[in-house]
Amino acid sequence: MFDLPTEDPEAALRFTRALAGMLAERETGNPGPKPEVSVVVPVLDELANLPQLHERLVAALDSEDFEVVYVDDGSRDGSCEYLRDLAAAQPNVTLVELARNFGHQIAISAGLDYARGRGVVIMDADLQDPPEVLPQFIEKWRQGHDVVYAVRKRRKEPWLKRSAYAAFYRLLQRVANFEIPLDSGDFCLMDRKVVDILNGMPERNRFVRGIRSWVGLGQVGLAYEREGRFAGETKYTFSRLVYLALDGLVSFSYIPLRAITLIGFFVSAVSFLLAIGYAVQRIAFGLNPAGFATIVVAVFFLAGIQLITM
Ligand code: UDP
Ligand code: MG
Repeated sequence: MFDLPTEDPEAALRFTRALAGMLAERETGNPGPKPEVSVVVPVLDELANLPQLHERLVAALDSEDFEVVYVDDGSRDGSCEYLRDLAAAQPNVTLVELARNFGHQIAISAGLDYARGRGVVIMDADLQDPPEVLPQFIEKWRQGHDVVYAVRKRRKEPWLKRSAYAAFYRLLQRVANFEIPLDSGDFCLMDRKVVDILNGMPERNRFVRGIRSWVGLGQVGLAYEREGRFAGETKYTFSRLVYLALDGLVSFSYIPLRAITLIGFFVSAVSFLLAIGYAVQRIAFGLNPAGFATIVVAVFFLAGIQLITM
């Protein structure tokens, strides 16, 4: 990038300054003074919600020094253009544009990377998480809790979906290696030290509410009424919810791995029994086609070994 100046002292000075400037920029990432509170909002096709969301956010955080980090997760309905204008017009609005739709959890992770506040809120763009409860979050945080997470009192959602959620959270709590609070989603406020820990973790496919609890520190729940969606449709199709649930279970429990190991032992045991069985049959009757027993026993034995070592 630079020609290393060796003779000319002026050039050497310029070089050092340029390098220092580059490093300084790298360190802050997002230059300018750091706000007290950042709000990270993942957005996929939420144009009908954004104006009201932003207005209510600004009103709720009126007395705070805050920034809003919108993460556009590949919207196609003009949300991104709307947010670009908003970010250009308002200095405390940042827009992170993802190159395509990566999914809710990845959008949140990207937003956490850009947020600079001493406290960072995660909330949805569809107004299911009402901005009006944020002052309560902030109050709890100032009392010294590192994570303030929202706990849904009631969901205004169809019954089948509600029961599926309830079953999932109870299952997750039973099988997880540590405590994950029931009925809490991503809506939360985290202290900078928690955000730094999350940002430093190598996971790509994150179940954010899970690692948030895994971190530990001082966590407190805050009950709130979860609203119905203000406008538009849910972006979580049934299959995406199933994958999210699987991510949660597989990432936070040893049970699936242990089950696989047990199946491995079982299959290996079957291979030994088969070997004995075929040997006896061979001696007693000599009926088998040549090689058949060897193949079957080898297949079972290797499958067992593979499952165990997984
Ligand atoms: N979202 C996103 N990327 C996706 C799916 C959803 O950024 O691939 C956003 C969406 O715009 C909303 C939030 O994530 O702000 C939660 O999505 P949604 O309301 O559809 O989920 P639900 O509340 O039905 O679980
Ligand atoms: Mg929603």
